[in-house]
Amino acid sequence: MKAMHYRKLGKTGLMVSEVGFGGEWLERHDADESVEVVKYAHSKGVNIIDCWMPDPKSRDIIGKAIAQDRQGWIVQGHIGSTWQNGQYVRTRDLKYVVPAFEDLLERLHTDHIDLGMIHYVDSPEEWDRCMNTDYIKYVHELHEKGVIRHIGMSTHNPRMAIKAVESGFIEMILFSINPAFDMRPATEDLDSMLFGEYQEDLAGIDPERAQLYRLCEEKEIGITVMKGFFGGRLFDAKTSPFRTAFTPLQCIHYSLTRPGVSSILCGCETIQQVDEAVAYEAATQEEKDYASVIASAPLHSYNGQCTYCGHCRPCPSEIDIAMVNKFYDLAVQQPEVPESVYSHYKALGKTASDCIACRSCESRCPFGVKIADRMQQTARLFGC
Ligand code: SF4
Ligand code: SF4
Repeated sequence: MKAMHYRKLGKTGLMVSEVGFGGEWLERHDADESVEVVKYAHSKGVNIIDCWMPDPKSRDIIGKAIAQDRQGWIVQGHIGSTWQNGQYVRTRDLKYVVPAFEDLLERLHTDHIDLGMIHYVDSPEEWDRCMNTDYIKYVHELHEKGVIRHIGMSTHNPRMAIKAVESGFIEMILFSINPAFDMRPATEDLDSMLFGEYQEDLAGIDPERAQLYRLCEEKEIGITVMKGFFGGRLFDAKTSPFRTAFTPLQCIHYSLTRPGVSSILCGCETIQQVDEAVAYEAATQEEKDYASVIASAPLHSYNGQCTYCGHCRPCPSEIDIAMVNKFYDLAVQQPEVPESVYSHYKALGKTASDCIACRSCESRCPFGVKIADRMQQTARLFGC
């Protein structure tokens, strides 16, 4: 088994394992078994865990599992996820928010949460409820006291994510990413994404989502990923919107090749599922290859769009085509090429101007991207 890779979580500076842990199904199992699953993941190099769950059992499991090495974990804890009469309730009412957050600290046996998440904001009304009430003062207060080390937000709506990123208020974001969601336009209705029909909507990556990923990369807002497996729907051709099945490794790779993404939080409830997720680190390019799955699907239309999949390797001029395309997409949105994008582009070593227009890559691109032409455009844009 290869060692885990770690990525910087944007401007938080934290180094997070690219395969992280989403714990929402832990409570279905015997508590001691679930504790062992989390500990096992840690032994495989996983160091980031999400705890949005307000129920005592989930929190106790995570608390026990991380107690031995609290400093070795980066905990993503949510502010506004509360437990009322045995039910999850999302609220901004401090009467419930404060005790729920104090309960989180107590059950996790900790005095701080690394990533304090403004919990689940999918609509402008919810954003206003957060920003114009005492809720946000409480978040500030926790941050000033060092009880939360960094402020983040969780959302499923790219429009709200863009708003939060542009507000300058958050340092990272928990966002739902998978190949199917990426085709859907922004919506405040999560149920329609989870359970709605997709056939008529397959038109490549939604522009707002692509914009969000570029913006996060540009502004150094790290993304952690939820719902990367679409609740398992992508694993079955009958339920996959593409009418073709993906593997967990392909889904993980899809998320981890979006700009701005630092970690995908895989929902694991068994040791076997942990093994399947961390197997990503040793997987071959063929095993991770989601591009050919999307491209050969009966229902898709990603044609002409670069998904940064890397399927077009190798290039005789040793150009990292996916990265060059990513930096081009980042830069072309701006009136001028941002300095940070330029320096990252230059750091690639081989740049678009090294392209000899052999077009050998184009026959390997499952999405029909006119790579040689893009290289020319990129060289013009960056001047090299
Ligand atoms: S050019 Fe094609 S093969 Fe290469 S990274 Fe982009 S989509 Fe993938
Ligand atoms: S066309 Fe350019 S980018 Fe593509 S393989 Fe040839 S040299 Fe590399």
